[in-house]
Amino acid sequence: MKKITRRYFNKLLGTFCAFSTLDTLSSGPALLLAAERRVVVVGGGFGGATTAKYLRLIDPHLQVTLVEPKHNYFTCPFSNLLLGGIKRMGELTHSYEKLKRKYGINVVHVAASRIEGASKKVVLQDGKSIHYDRAIVAPGVDMRFDLIENYQADDIVSMPHAWKGSASTLRLHRQLETMPDGGTVLICPPALPYRCPPGPYERASLVAHYLKKYKPRSKILILDAKEQFPKQALFSTGWERLYGHMIEWFNGSAGGLILRVDAKGMAVETEFGREEGDVINLIPAQWAGRIARDSGLTDETGWCPVDQRTFESTLHGGIHVIGDAATVVAMPKSGFSASNQAKIAAVAVIDLLNEKEPTSPSMANTCYSFLAPDYAISVAAVYQLSGGEIVKVKGSGGVSPPDVDLSVRRAEAIYAQGWYDSITPVSYTHLTLPTNREV
Ligand code: FAD
Repeated sequence: MKKITRRYFNKLLGTFCAFSTLDTLSSGPALLLAAERRVVVVGGGFGGATTAKYLRLIDPHLQVTLVEPKHNYFTCPFSNLLLGGIKRMGELTHSYEKLKRKYGINVVHVAASRIEGASKKVVLQDGKSIHYDRAIVAPGVDMRFDLIENYQADDIVSMPHAWKGSASTLRLHRQLETMPDGGTVLICPPALPYRCPPGPYERASLVAHYLKKYKPRSKILILDAKEQFPKQALFSTGWERLYGHMIEWFNGSAGGLILRVDAKGMAVETEFGREEGDVINLIPAQWAGRIARDSGLTDETGWCPVDQRTFESTLHGGIHVIGDAATVVAMPKSGFSASNQAKIAAVAVIDLLNEKEPTSPSMANTCYSFLAPDYAISVAAVYQLSGGEIVKVKGSGGVSPPDVDLSVRRAEAIYAQGWYDSITPVSYTHLTLPTNREV
């Protein structure tokens, strides 16, 4: 007979927990499991998948259920490289198998329809519910269609935002492929706060990279709701160096602010008049994903206020919100931030379950932006808790230096790929897809 060592016992327990949670979905926890601690994570993106993994790494006795409707996760990071014709769909698509098999997380591929804080359960779209001791919610963002005149949800077919999900990104990619040489691409970024503040400018760069190669008489106009944007001097210098005058940027007060949309006529209207485009990439304003709004986790801003030490909602105890959906003013809404918050929240949840005082977090963020396949720049910062708020540590981080040799930009492009490889497959298994198709 096999000797029952502590390690073997833990393994058995972990395996049992992973397989037994599903049985408890509709019928409520079995007697044995009543003694187990259950954490339910809603949303399997950079925030949710990472927190699920770290919960199990820190405490293998925890029952962790990840609720995520999609079977494969498509990363927005590096999706601009797909638009530039540099990456393919398969390189940006990851399955959840590793989370299930290696970390013993119970992944349920159904959307959550609401979280009931009073009865501590997550209700799924198929009518079942999962009970929790603590929940962590990371649903990312939804688009807002109520802030620009005549703009409707259906308009994303002719004007794909490509700001979440693979379908919209592929649609924009196809529009770029079929537009005429000499055509105009409009890119319209929203006001802050939104997911990935430097993303629209990286997009303009990589679309320019594609157009320079295949449709060199074309132009890109950025009609921006803002007056300035991140890494602006570095982007502007790079654009001139790489693409001459192909990209033009208009700030909010110089005719960049979109007031009205005419999707049928493929045009937008600003206070300076009507602007038509062969391709219009209107990136709408955003708010927290619907499950957060429907569960009363958002305030009047549309985002989720959280205790900055633990990421516990200040509106509903026992529910933590991380990633893009959470209000953390000092940190950009990025995959890197979501991943850092995920680890801090995992530690805090375990501390709270053990009735221990959570520790003070320290976090970092680096956002790389490509201007061409071998030309990247970055912005970085370190954050800590001060007076109950997460703040940037004075003097930490900064942006890439200006006026440097091209080898420095090439090196940053290599670091960016290293960042993606290290942050993404830790949570997911890489998938190989032969062609660019929707996932
Ligand atoms: P998400 O990654 O969006 O994950 C949310 C998950 O929740 C999804 O899988 C969704 O299916 C699921 N979900 C939603 N509703 C429900 C529900 N009701 N029930 C169950 N599950 C649900 N960040 C970087 O750090 N570096 C970059 O270089 C970078 N580049 C970017 C480029 C672009 C073009 C864009 C658009 C974004 C980029 N980002 C980058 C930002 C990054 O993608 C987001 O900040 C990050 O994905 C946020 O993680 P999250 O977990 O909060 O949300």
